[in-house]
Amino acid sequence: MTHHKSIAKALNLIQGRIDLACEAAGRKDETAALMAVSKMKQAPLIEEALKAGQRLFGENKVQEAQDKWPALKEKYPEAEVHLIGPLQTNKARAAVRLFDAIQSVDRPKLAQILARVMEEEGRKIPIYIQVNTGEEEQKAGVVFDALDEFYKLCRDDLGLKVAGLMCIPPANDHPGPHFALLKRTADRLGIAGLSMGMSGDYEQAVWHGATLVRLGTSIFGARPKL
Ligand SMILES: *Cc1c(COP(=O)(O)O)cnc(C)c1O
Repeated sequence: MTHHKSIAKALNLIQGRIDLACEAAGRKDETAALMAVSKMKQAPLIEEALKAGQRLFGENKVQEAQDKWPALKEKYPEAEVHLIGPLQTNKARAAVRLFDAIQSVDRPKLAQILARVMEEEGRKIPIYIQVNTGEEEQKAGVVFDALDEFYKLCRDDLGLKVAGLMCIPPANDHPGPHFALLKRTADRLGIAGLSMGMSGDYEQAVWHGATLVRLGTSIFGARPKL
């Protein structure tokens, strides 16, 4: 059973490890932001994290976030919630209204619709471009060959605010090379944000330059297996 104290403790412990990893990597000037991934977790548990001072959250489904977050945000207006799961174009408007950033932008059609919807809603939120670093068939994300052109489309043609690159390395690979490749690519393109690293590999991600790590299990406990 995960409860109040253990969530606060986990957050503290993880933040300490992030800071150590930054130090070990010689990143004196900065730290990496800790995102609490609250997918499949109920509002009362999320509220424990909010009470412990956590402000950055990630959700992977629009509908689920719509059910939980409006009430939580009313109570904790400083909370910031990012969409980190795949986004269908018919949910783009709901996503723009609800989220503070969208980290899963990975195709021209979606980018175009997001740009239009943000304009119509008068709400320009940052996006991350999701990169399919392992070039996996079933996985979301832009492949490296298409990335430069897609970045240009987002930033120059559509005027989207590209805050960073995001990746989810293949489950069975060593994540290090994927993190390193994403970091090199972001540097080459002059992109500052790097959303990479989860419960099992966030220290490595920080070592490789992550500016934001996304942790669910190690904060809230295991999720039910689907
Ligand atoms: C679920 C999820 C996470 C968190 O994974 P954990 O292993 O529980 O830390 C991070 N990023 C994305 C995109 C996710 O869907």
